[in-house]
Amino acid sequence: MAGEPQGDCLFCKIVAGHVPATIVRETETTVAFRDINPQAPTHVLVIPKAHYEDAATLATAAPALAADVLRETQAIADEDKLESYRIVFNTGTGAGQTVFHAHAHVVGGRGLHWPPG
Ligand code: AMP
Ligand code: ZN
Repeated sequence: MAGEPQGDCLFCKIVAGHVPATIVRETETTVAFRDINPQAPTHVLVIPKAHYEDAATLATAAPALAADVLRETQAIADEDKLESYRIVFNTGTGAGQTVFHAHAHVVGGRGLHWPPG
């Protein structure tokens, strides 16, 4: 069922506390933790606690929860005093999505090129 925890999902396991993560913020509906393979001085993943496979699925099924995730990206940027940063939702394997539980990458703390690779 939409939003239910998936036994084979890494990020559901992090939400449940079954896989360790460096959690930097938590709300009733979201968790934010440091990416295990950081691409910048700040590289934090913000996820909904509920399982949706990608950002668009999340936004369609649970728009208020999608807004919670976005609001948390701002909180991360504020905490790390980032004036400029990038929010990335890789969607689909061709775009580099490897974990199919919606997550926002918050990347900053260094110069960021545009367009991205
Ligand atoms: P994506 O490739 O957009 O699906 O993003 C998945 C991200 O999860 C990658 O940047 C990984 O480095 C990160 N990642 C994978 N396993 C873990 C973990 N156990 N803790 C924190 N981040 C992870
Ligand atoms: Zn999940």
